[in-house]
Amino acid sequence: MATTGRRIFQVIDGNKKFVGDGFDVTSPMPGPRIRQLSPFLLIDHTGPMPVAPTEAPLGTPPHPHRGFETVTVVYEGYLAHRDTAGHTGALGPGDVQWMTAGAGLLHEERHEREFARRGGTLELLQLWVNVPARDKLAPPRYQNIRAEAIPEVLTADGRGRIRVVSGSYEGVAGPAATFSPINLLDVHLPAGTATTLHLPADYNVGIYVVKGSITLHGNRSAATKQLVVFGWDAPELHLTATEDTVLVVLAGEPIEEPLATYGPFVMNTNRELVQAIADFESGGMGTFPEDE
Ligand code: MN
Repeated sequence: MATTGRRIFQVIDGNKKFVGDGFDVTSPMPGPRIRQLSPFLLIDHTGPMPVAPTEAPLGTPPHPHRGFETVTVVYEGYLAHRDTAGHTGALGPGDVQWMTAGAGLLHEERHEREFARRGGTLELLQLWVNVPARDKLAPPRYQNIRAEAIPEVLTADGRGRIRVVSGSYEGVAGPAATFSPINLLDVHLPAGTATTLHLPADYNVGIYVVKGSITLHGNRSAATKQLVVFGWDAPELHLTATEDTVLVVLAGEPIEEPLATYGPFVMNTNRELVQAIADFESGGMGTFPEDE
């Protein structure tokens, strides 16, 4: 039975790519069908991929960022992080890392050493989140949020878990601090669970299906590794999990400012991009001691 709810604009498949030597990624955004879902700029879904035992953890070598945030949600396996702002951390299943590149840093993202030694399966999501112009050169910040610090709202039947990473949902506030209003929800629904999500009507809203499949408003479906983009006509999203499903709800107030991007830099003008490249090349975003 079809029910009314927020209009579905697009259902987008991901493109495959490899990031560094350690991340086998599917990415539905940015791409030919969607440049951004402001404030969300990118969705990179790693795995699930096998990691063979090794003494030399795979990943990305040091690389810079400026002007936005990287948000990493781990589902399986372990990651290690370090950056030139002095932050280090490891994260595992259920943990979320919310890193503000701000004025600029270099960071390294690798499989965690013990995990790499044992080998196993790795699955994680990395989102890039834009910040308003006034905050683009803020000091770098690192929020390493443990799974147990993320509160859950249960679906009406008590079977589904809606983990509130940022913003608030049904009166429950998530731990992540953000620069603009963002509701980031990590939703786990057993097969057959139906729920209605209420989100501010004027937010951009997307659902990315990490695993499983869903029916939306009783008449549309989305499967693993698809991004659903919604319109702004109604607050409700009616969804039913047709198998055991994990999905992420990306909802946020659009940042209505020009976007200028070049690789790892996200600014408002080309002039600011040129400055970012110059600052990186002159070492202004820091260096790791062994690279000096
Ligand atoms: Mn990075």
